[in-house]
Amino acid sequence: MKLNEWDYLLKSISGSNTLPLTSRCNLSCIFCSNKQNSGFPVLRVKERTVDELMVACEFIDPVKPLVIGESATRYFEGEPFLYLSIFELLEKLRNKYPEMHIKITTNGELLTEKSLQILSNIGNISLTVSINCIDFEERARYLKGTRPGRSILALLDTENIDYTVSAVIFPRVFENMGEEKESIFQLLECMEKYRKTVRIFFAGLSSESMNRFKITVSQFDKIQHEISSKINVYRKDCGFPIIMEPYYIEDFAAYVEGVENSTGRIQPGDIIKAVNGKNVICGTEVIKNYIDSEANYISIQTKDGVLVDQIFLSDDEKPIIRPGVSNRMLKWIDEYVETEPETVIFVSRFAEKAFKKRYNNIFVPENRTFGGNIYCYGLFSFMDIYETLKKIEKEFGKSVKAIVNPAIMDSQGFDITGKTIFDHPGLTEKIIMPPEM
Ligand code: SF4
Repeated sequence: MKLNEWDYLLKSISGSNTLPLTSRCNLSCIFCSNKQNSGFPVLRVKERTVDELMVACEFIDPVKPLVIGESATRYFEGEPFLYLSIFELLEKLRNKYPEMHIKITTNGELLTEKSLQILSNIGNISLTVSINCIDFEERARYLKGTRPGRSILALLDTENIDYTVSAVIFPRVFENMGEEKESIFQLLECMEKYRKTVRIFFAGLSSESMNRFKITVSQFDKIQHEISSKINVYRKDCGFPIIMEPYYIEDFAAYVEGVENSTGRIQPGDIIKAVNGKNVICGTEVIKNYIDSEANYISIQTKDGVLVDQIFLSDDEKPIIRPGVSNRMLKWIDEYVETEPETVIFVSRFAEKAFKKRYNNIFVPENRTFGGNIYCYGLFSFMDIYETLKKIEKEFGKSVKAIVNPAIMDSQGFDITGKTIFDHPGLTEKIIMPPEM
């Protein structure tokens, strides 16, 4: 299937409310996922004029946040502030969509007092700033950055701009096993002052990258487990939310990961049972209810199993919920397997435990495309599904149908390798995808 770049841009915007601006980046992070796609057709963003982008933005859903600078499609996303007309574009977007929330992910290198003031004046913009390292030497060494993370944080604090911070746990740990632990806790200690949400990502490494860093999957898993446990202890008493990703889902309940501007009544690990009096059973449903109804009270079940009804949230108090599988998708699967009980269900390793509690025939496809510790659904290919299905059919001695999460492909039907389901003979008859929910 030949790709039309303009059509792909429109589909990306309409499908995921993301606006790709550029593939250029001023850093060269050691863990950059864009470097791990070797051998696959990477889609570089064709930089467009503001007028062209405004035409494309007719397809935005202004009720949802517009996302800039974050990879949600096959585009190789770079640093959005390298797009020269970004402020003109944001101003035009604000005029057209006065209420829309705009979320920008940036490495922070190009932020200045002036640019933050402009963003603040445009309004309703939040930044996710990939700080990663707070010291100059580390940021220079591992990111090729020119500014210490510490100074970017200090700058953000001077302006009236909403932001969260992110950091990737990456293989510098293997150069010095103690270093990562110190480094991530240095960042967290620094955040005690700013009290903003910190997102910590454990790097997904392809087998090629694992070889490059001379590390095995089990060694990385062990370190991930060790660091997660320490962060779990740390976050109990710190005054800001720390979110770790990816995480393993034990069940589908709406777990609280952290609370912005916490009053201490809701704690990480509590489960939200109802929003504005309406019962909810999974995280995605809670997130949706928040957006739809601007929740003003919730009911929770605490970690100790105590039910607390009607907690009225103050204006800026915001529980951060662990997303999961949507309730509607679960209902769809329930109905499907009731009539077709032999259907197998392919899930990501992160969700395996939760699915096994609810269904039979759960399988995690083998990720041959990237290998390593890459388990996220969007990074499987149809080839991985095809090969895993062949193995299962051999084991079962019969033809098998499988439910596959549509997250495996983008809005145009392409997987991460640029192939579609039609590139694998017979696969269309064997795969069932729940409608996007
Ligand atoms: S800032 Fe982002 S896009 Fe740029 S090199 Fe680092 S990880 Fe890659």
